[in-house]
Amino acid sequence: MSLEARAAELDQADELASFRRLFQLPEDVVYLDGNSLGALPNGVKARVTQAIEQEWGQSLIRAWNEYGWVNLPEKLGDRIARLIGAEKGSVTVGDSTSISVFKVLAAALAFNADRKVILSDRGNFPTDLYMAQGLAALKNTGHRLSLVEPEDVLDAITEDVSVLMLTEVDYRTGRRHDMKKLTGLAHQKGVLTIWDLAHSAGAFPVDLSDAGADFAVGCGYKYLNGGPGAPAFAYVAPSRLHDVKPFLSGWFGHEAPFAFDLDYRPAEGTTKLRVGTPPVLSLVALDAALDVFDNADMQEIQNKSNALSEFFIGEVEALCPDLVLASPRNAQERGSQVSFRHPDGYAIMQALIDKGVIGDFRAPDIIRFGFAPLYVRFADVAKAVLVLAEILDSRLWDRDTYKTRAAVT
Ligand SMILES: *Cc1c(COP(=O)(O)O)cnc(C)c1O
Repeated sequence: MSLEARAAELDQADELASFRRLFQLPEDVVYLDGNSLGALPNGVKARVTQAIEQEWGQSLIRAWNEYGWVNLPEKLGDRIARLIGAEKGSVTVGDSTSISVFKVLAAALAFNADRKVILSDRGNFPTDLYMAQGLAALKNTGHRLSLVEPEDVLDAITEDVSVLMLTEVDYRTGRRHDMKKLTGLAHQKGVLTIWDLAHSAGAFPVDLSDAGADFAVGCGYKYLNGGPGAPAFAYVAPSRLHDVKPFLSGWFGHEAPFAFDLDYRPAEGTTKLRVGTPPVLSLVALDAALDVFDNADMQEIQNKSNALSEFFIGEVEALCPDLVLASPRNAQERGSQVSFRHPDGYAIMQALIDKGVIGDFRAPDIIRFGFAPLYVRFADVAKAVLVLAEILDSRLWDRDTYKTRAAVT
């Protein structure tokens, strides 16, 4: 049976197939970059247009109360909480992931102030590390960021460590840490944990509560489809929430912002993690985008992700012998992406994009394919493999136009 015929059979049996209709996707594009920028859900445009024309346009400043703009960070927090196994009232939304890392890391370090090591791994997304470096410099209290290889994290959790800060799924390789096991071990040594769920939320079931995580953050524009630069989320375990100190103490995190007191007093709950005025239009877009998850089962999403990834790995390895798998072979150890290495990965990815198959490239040599199970079809995977094989067989990538690097890769 041909590759396309097998893909058609798999699509036929796919219980999530109907979700694709909830997204706007160009006909002639195979989109395997939802791990970097999620596709546009249909409902977003109408909802944002309404927020602009009716809420902002007609109600003007009254809309803060009339349309509940002021409560959007907590409302969306509760919607995301359901997807990441978080308790109601433990998640807030707003600011970028980078800022969210700063907020929760500052709060976490204050709980363990006599320990000076922030432990992370070399696979972590650089912005998380940069934020830790900046915070350590600002505090000037002898804190330092210690980085180990991802496979060495477990042994590096010692009693010097204040906070273990990891991204669950490695953005380059897709390797997935065992969140529950590492969190449990960290707690045995008195270490607090921060999990970055940028490549987890919306891609597979996450259970922060079961893992016992202390803090978490995650991204709104990847598998949650909130649109470019969508607000991120931040989680604080309910047992810690009362004692969390907000160091980015802006007026929207104040107990009574409109009392305009000269002294800061934190609000209760996750509201104290707010900083400035919430980005209403972006929150509205994310709110509408989250509707696609209302009837989706995260376990089914995980199952389809595994099936898409396994289909892809098997066919690429059969047809593209020059590519080396960079992701774990075992689905349990992987997020919802598959990466391969090739020294000319950048040019190969540009040729692929030129042929309508969109993935992305991560330096130095990784080509990355994300499988967002709500809208990626097995037929897309088949087409991606066939185009990739053709590009490699014909060396189509070996052209100057494909080798010039753009600002965003
Ligand atoms: C995508 C991503 C970010 C993005 O941070 P922004 O501040 O939203 O640009 C941060 N951390 C990780 C692990 C990511 O994958």
